[in-house]
Amino acid sequence: MQPDPHAPLGRHVTLRCYRELNDFLPVASRERRFPFRFRGQPSLKSVLEGAGVPQAEVDLVLMNGQSVALDHPIVGGERLEVFPLLESLELDLFAPLRPRPLPDAFIVDVNLGRLARLLRLSGLDCLYRRDFDDEEIVRLACEQGRGILTRDKGVLHRGAVIHGYWVRHTDPERQLLEVIHHYRLEGRLRFFSRCTRCNGVLHVISRDAARQRVPAGAWREHHHFFVCDGCGQVYWRGSHYEAMNQTLTRLGLLPKKQGPETGP
Ligand SMILES: [Zn+2]
Repeated sequence: MQPDPHAPLGRHVTLRCYRELNDFLPVASRERRFPFRFRGQPSLKSVLEGAGVPQAEVDLVLMNGQSVALDHPIVGGERLEVFPLLESLELDLFAPLRPRPLPDAFIVDVNLGRLARLLRLSGLDCLYRRDFDDEEIVRLACEQGRGILTRDKGVLHRGAVIHGYWVRHTDPERQLLEVIHHYRLEGRLRFFSRCTRCNGVLHVISRDAARQRVPAGAWREHHHFFVCDGCGQVYWRGSHYEAMNQTLTRLGLLPKKQGPETGP
């Protein structure tokens, strides 16, 4: 629903959004209480959507101090406080709208191909195809328990989306850090354990088995090889690995001068 500036006085709620949910509001409405006028008998979800806040990023709504579900009817006069994903400590006090545990597998939209590669490089299960449309993304996310990462806020307004996040940054490396922080993934990263091309899992193969599958120079210079169980690509710790290692170190995800114990 759209805000209705002509709704009769009294048919409004007072909204206050917290933390990153302010990113969806006009500047004048950020970090403060503001009135939202409406017509009819909307649900809480409709009011939030009308104010521009995607339901998928909302984890808790307090209505006059009590937590409520997104389908709760709104009659006017309510005071609504709207929160994004909560820290675990806060969960003891309130029932969050987003089920736990938070997702550690994702599906990304067509605009986030480079982020998808970085998530895979970090060992996170991440589906990406250039021809995914919104409906397919939502369907796969629901069927496979994946979080949706998108640059398109519209997807996150869909009621079927359980876990979804609008990636704020446009630079892929900053996007990676943003997603890791948002979904508290710091302890779940397994660098160089997944194929950046197809999302398959990498396994060690013997040097002998790799001999016919890699360039002769790479076989002579390297002793550890890894194969993707999805596409069959063989990896080794060559110049590309070194460059990626440096990138992850620069981002603070790997300690300096110490690589992962396994990986291509
Ligand atoms: Zn692969």
